[in-house]
Amino acid sequence: MIKHTKDITIRHIWEARKQIASIVNRTPLIQSAILSEKVGRSVYLKLENVHEVGAFKVRGAANKILSLSDEEKKRGVATFSTGNHGMAVAYVANKLGMDAVVCISNRVPKAKVDSLKRLGAQIEIVGDSQDAAGERCYELEREKGVTVIEPFDDPHVIAGQGTIGLELLEDLPNLTDVIVPLSGGGLLSGIGLALKANDPNLRVTGVSMEHSAVMYESLKAGKPVKLDESETLADSLLGGIGLDNRYTFKMVQQYMDDVVLIPEEEIAYSMAYMMDKHRMIMEGAAATGIAAILGEKIPHQDGDMAVIISGHNVDLSTLLTLIQQYTFENK
Ligand SMILES: *Cc1c(COP(=O)(O)O)cnc(C)c1O
Repeated sequence: MIKHTKDITIRHIWEARKQIASIVNRTPLIQSAILSEKVGRSVYLKLENVHEVGAFKVRGAANKILSLSDEEKKRGVATFSTGNHGMAVAYVANKLGMDAVVCISNRVPKAKVDSLKRLGAQIEIVGDSQDAAGERCYELEREKGVTVIEPFDDPHVIAGQGTIGLELLEDLPNLTDVIVPLSGGGLLSGIGLALKANDPNLRVTGVSMEHSAVMYESLKAGKPVKLDESETLADSLLGGIGLDNRYTFKMVQQYMDDVVLIPEEEIAYSMAYMMDKHRMIMEGAAATGIAAILGEKIPHQDGDMAVIISGHNVDLSTLLTLIQQYTFENK
């Protein structure tokens, strides 16, 4: 029997599913003919790019925010993420008619600030580092009683992401492998718990970029470690896991069977490949899963494979450059 991390069980994922149904749509699962042919087994894409904010993070954010008391909801929420988590928090708060403050440094590009504003977030610009923005967030929590919504290391967030696992189990009775982009590990913890509670033999593979793969290095060290960030196309996978990590480090340790690290060129190639062959836009983080398949990094088993297409938020200019390179190389 699987021993579950004390505070989170499959029951919480079922509760999350009921809780978030009014805000979050079930996402489609499609078979990829071209990838299936390539690896000689059925490959399915779980389309988490089709959420209105373009990434799965809306599941965890919705489950967390809906779990707050009426009093807490009145006081509002805060985050210092400007990426997909920040967008998801702003989106959910807006839907529920709540205040959301996003604390950012003055280095955040205007395009990101504008999209957060469009979602109805209040922007507070503080200092010139992500750390300063984070400190301001926790100051707001102490002074005004707002709730800071954590991006991954929170039971409600993990359970929210885990609802993807329930949908996969329902849609794919012959599922044997799931490939999950990995950063702080909220996505993998939730999906891993949901799948392994049902079938402990189901293989869960995490994928990250080669450099600054903090969870990978932490698992190797046996404890959470800090790394410098380097440029990557998989920018949604950047960031630490927290030296005082409470949930996801242990859960990833428990539920992940294997981890694959992807070099930048292969992330780039996979983004262009999916645009060309599938007519589908995906951001670098999501393309890591495709790269693992194209690079035949997943050991063969009979049974179906699913890859989590975790998001599509990438600058079009970045994508266009990649496609030009790819087209040139494939002439
Ligand atoms: C946040 C994110 C991930 C990683 O999720 P974690 O829970 O931090 O591991 C993967 N892909 C996309 C697009 C994301 O936004």
